[in-house]
Amino acid sequence: MTETLSAPAPPGTPPARETLLDVRDMRTHFKVLDGVVPAVDGVSFSLGRGQTLGIVGESGSGKSVTALTIMRLLDIPPAVIGAESEVWFDGREILRMPLDSMRKIRGKDMAMIFQEPLTSLNPVFTIGEQIAEQVRLHLKVSKREARDRSIESLRDVGIPSPESRIKQYPHEMSGGMRQRVMIAMALSCEPKLLIADEPTTALDVTIQAQILELLKVIQQRTGSALLLITHDLGVVAEMVDHVVVMYAGQIVEQGTVNDVMLEPRAPYTMGLLESIPTAEKRGGRLSVIKGVVPSPFHLPPACRFEPRCPYAWELCREVAPDLSGVAGSTTDQLARCHLHGKVGESRRVAALDHHADAMRVGRGLKEDPA
Ligand code: SF4
Repeated sequence: MTETLSAPAPPGTPPARETLLDVRDMRTHFKVLDGVVPAVDGVSFSLGRGQTLGIVGESGSGKSVTALTIMRLLDIPPAVIGAESEVWFDGREILRMPLDSMRKIRGKDMAMIFQEPLTSLNPVFTIGEQIAEQVRLHLKVSKREARDRSIESLRDVGIPSPESRIKQYPHEMSGGMRQRVMIAMALSCEPKLLIADEPTTALDVTIQAQILELLKVIQQRTGSALLLITHDLGVVAEMVDHVVVMYAGQIVEQGTVNDVMLEPRAPYTMGLLESIPTAEKRGGRLSVIKGVVPSPFHLPPACRFEPRCPYAWELCREVAPDLSGVAGSTTDQLARCHLHGKVGESRRVAALDHHADAMRVGRGLKEDPA
């Protein structure tokens, strides 16, 4: 199996063939009246062909801007992409590619599913016309073939009677059906990469589960790679092999889903996991990460999580931590935290014990001390 988080290739050179997407030192800033917003600040990760990767974080962490930068869907200006940033897709650097060439890739080799299908579908065309248009644009097939392919795509995503459904307009369908249409549209050209940005956030809980299951089944059947963006660690645990955790525009932790979920090493990830509601906590006190994500205009000078971190000390206010290997790990897990440096050793032991205790409380295996 291809490793998703592979060793980085030197700048300006393509990654190994088995790497489908290689994001290197991505910096996406926005110039606004009040100053510059560093929405994504030095993000690097890679995704192998047919693999799955989740990007997790709160609102404002930079995860959606990362996806929009990859798809080149941001207006430049106000967005500014760092000169050193590179995005390699299927062996080609796409940030500097002419827009005409990028349009040929987008929708065909790389497709995106957005959070709210109603704003992504055109209300004045039937769903059949919208899927067929995309198929004809990218695959250069006849009208008849495009129609047949639209019906097939709708059938693939579990829409009943697709022959009659293609004549419907988006407003005639439920939210769950519309999201299925978006998935059908994204998959109609058999993309190598599917980017799903909070694909179930606007749906009710039972439909969410169906859509996630559908995405999983289709991803496994087609062999597309999946980049899933979500604020929900529970979704990540079900859906992906590797995970990247973002906070205030930076990656704070990355690794296999097992490493990150079972042995988190960044205090932010620990806090996210501790705050997942469990059946055992019903009626009890919910754990929360205190405070709010910092304003992008007033980021803390060193560690961006420091004002909210229960383990912070002077060093965290003075020196920005790097994203580096974690103490004691035998895998490629990385964390951005001074607890994993030599000076953080005793604090690290205390933090890991504290996290283990909090998780035991969550599972009902220990009394809540509060
Ligand atoms: Fe907390 Fe310090 Fe680690 Fe930042 S560097 S996450 S403040 S312990």
